[in-house]
Amino acid sequence: MTQPSAIVIVGGGCAGLSVAARLRNVPNPPDVTLIEPSEFHYYQPLWTLVGAGALDKQVTRRPQRDYIPDGVRWLKTRVTGFEPEHNAVVTEDGQRVVYQQLVVATGIQLDWHKIQGLAGNLGKHGICSNYSYETVDFTHAALQSFRAGNAVFTFPSTPVKCAGAPQKIMYLADDVLRQRQVRDRARVVYAASTAAIFGIAKYARTLSRVVERRGIETMFRHDLIAVDAANQQAYFKHLDSGVETTLAFEMLHVTPPQSAPDVVKRSSLASADGWVDVHKHTLQHVRFPNVFALGDASSLPTSRTGAAVRKQAPVLVDNLLAWRAGRPLEASYDGYASCPLVTGFGKLVLAEFDYTGNPQESFPFDQSRERLSMYLLKLHALPELYWNGMLRGRC
Ligand code: FAD
Repeated sequence: MTQPSAIVIVGGGCAGLSVAARLRNVPNPPDVTLIEPSEFHYYQPLWTLVGAGALDKQVTRRPQRDYIPDGVRWLKTRVTGFEPEHNAVVTEDGQRVVYQQLVVATGIQLDWHKIQGLAGNLGKHGICSNYSYETVDFTHAALQSFRAGNAVFTFPSTPVKCAGAPQKIMYLADDVLRQRQVRDRARVVYAASTAAIFGIAKYARTLSRVVERRGIETMFRHDLIAVDAANQQAYFKHLDSGVETTLAFEMLHVTPPQSAPDVVKRSSLASADGWVDVHKHTLQHVRFPNVFALGDASSLPTSRTGAAVRKQAPVLVDNLLAWRAGRPLEASYDGYASCPLVTGFGKLVLAEFDYTGNPQESFPFDQSRERLSMYLLKLHALPELYWNGMLRGRC
């Protein structure tokens, strides 16, 4: 058994590292162990621009080691079991790590296998996805080799990380096809399980205008269930009528079905839907008070984004330290999330909202308008804020 640790954080992504850094920044910092198997850390929000060919994917990846805060013990392994009844986690390499408090930040799981026929075909026959570092290059390649036919962009019938990402790449793709002078031979289709282009009316109005201006066809309430890769056919099921539709494609950008990681689902930490079951304002587990969770793996009913994590991390750390000290949990998360909706090269609508769906905007102008300034914010300022602010526990 590994030596007991005061606080164990599982997952060193955006959420885990932000919490680790904040815990080490307090006076008399507690002892912290971080369990994370990956050699690299990824800034996923830039994958949209990588897929469109605006950036090299290398810029989104940095060594994990450079972002583990000083004084934090890193166990480079994967958690394979949670035992909250015994204040312990079990790892792939056979360790049993005991904690006083646990933070779960394992992110969301990509369930590629739930689309029949997809396995082994990403990167072939025009099938691509911005949803992983390994596949993001394929999107650019598919756009460059596109000649004529349907360019189809999907959104599954599950929660996803960054609900704007499935359509952002479509607007950039539309620009690329125009630059390549093949747009008049393309039919661009947004085939989404959602009932509308976006969940918040203020931003949906702008996005509907963008869709119309670009001549994009929408197929709402359609869920991608299977592909015949070799014959470039995509099969959809209508979520209300159950009717199945087939679409031929020259390019298919897949947003995979997603769910809580299996290791969380099969543990007693899980809610009925599989997520780590935490209180939506305090981020404390509803049954195990020494367990907290944030980010994509948590049950927090907001949009799963790094921007949301930025507001969750300080609340979690305040409440976790309060609980350690026997004080009441006073910090409260209001559901803030943000989605920088790229609507083309040089254009972005910065959606920001809370649990109630009310806009909660940072700038003193109407953020539902497409702006170059907000695009530059995403391209230059937000990555800087992420690497040097958020992951260092500074903002
Ligand atoms: P992650 O950052 O995914 O980290 C989870 C970590 O847990 C990983 O390091 C993983 O290795 C580790 N882990 C998993 N299982 C285990 C285990 N069993 N044991 C130990 N460790 C484990 N967000 C925005 O704010 N703005 C955007 O514009 C935006 N665009 C996006 C575009 C795309 C294409 C994608 C894919 C995402 C985008 N996001 C965006 C979403 C954002 O990246 C995530 O919401 C954010 O990374 C969530 O942080 P997290 O720490 O919960 O999960």
